[in-house]
Amino acid sequence: MAELRFDGRVAVVTGGGRGLGRSYALMLAARGAKVVVNDVGGSLTGDGADAGPAQQVADEIVAAGGDAVANADSVATADGGEAIVAAALAAYGRVDVLVHNAGNVRRGSLREMSYEDFDAVVDVHQRGAFHLVRQVFPVMCDNGYGRIVLTSSIGGLYGNHDVANYAVAKAGVIGLSNVAAVEGADHGVTSNVIVPAAVTRMAEGIDTSAYPPMGPELVAPAVGWLAHESCSVTGEIFIALAGRMARAVIAETPGVYRPSWTVEDVAGQIDAIRDFSEPVVFPVVPDGHNEHIRYSFAMAAQRAAHA
Ligand code: NAD
Repeated sequence: MAELRFDGRVAVVTGGGRGLGRSYALMLAARGAKVVVNDVGGSLTGDGADAGPAQQVADEIVAAGGDAVANADSVATADGGEAIVAAALAAYGRVDVLVHNAGNVRRGSLREMSYEDFDAVVDVHQRGAFHLVRQVFPVMCDNGYGRIVLTSSIGGLYGNHDVANYAVAKAGVIGLSNVAAVEGADHGVTSNVIVPAAVTRMAEGIDTSAYPPMGPELVAPAVGWLAHESCSVTGEIFIALAGRMARAVIAETPGVYRPSWTVEDVAGQIDAIRDFSEPVVFPVVPDGHNEHIRYSFAMAAQRAAHA
């Protein structure tokens, strides 16, 4: 297959100064994209700021013959989101790709998590996604082209201990991506979610000695395809972890129809309600929302016809 390139494309990668984001930025630039490397450069908890990491990655790209500018604004505010996209437009005049990858972590049990820690994480991952998407979406739709990749997590799909803030935020970006996919569908704009995992500084404190190879370079190709012109899907969720690439789906059981229900009916039917042997999936695009409603209504109509 011919190399999938990004010549003439402009990409914004948030959190591009370290870890996974750095890997995405280097990969996109090596394939011809002009890259805005955004990173506030703070600590794992999101405290502090340092323009160094973003600048170093931009310098690395330029030294390798690529094109990049650094930006150290925070994704956590509306002003920051606006400034990041303004930097892309000022430097390159367009935005074709958004990879919202910036992230922080503040651990704490649900019994004890402070509102400060809750907000600090939601502000970066989830509200940060909105601050960026809100800015690039009109630009992309007006251009008739765009590729949005938002970052979720296994914690967002399945939860985990001590990360209520992170799990809420990472589940929320799936909702945002789905709306961007639905609203972008007629404008050449796709939006998908990456669920990555890699040994980066986010793994600090975790014993990774028995892990298989799990570098960011095993995730970057998935983001590259989702960010590429040839990406043929939208409103989907991709997994990349230790060399495994997969798709995550929201699926339903067919369910049980009754014209009326009691609590006892639910108890009596619970196995059939939960029977997942024939899962039903409603693709986000073109119309998963209404497909879901139509499917439910069809069961009611079918039963009514046989009554
Ligand atoms: P990392 O800490 O190495 O990199 C994250 C970068 O985001 C840092 O350089 C940080 O400075 C930057 N950042 C944080 N807050 C920011 C802000 N307000 N504005 C701009 N930049 C900011 O972590 P990573 O492992 O590379 O994580 C990247 C993304 O992948 C995150 O969204 C993370 O939640 C997600 N993720 C990672 C893993 C994993 O196993 N590493 C698993 C699931 C999800």
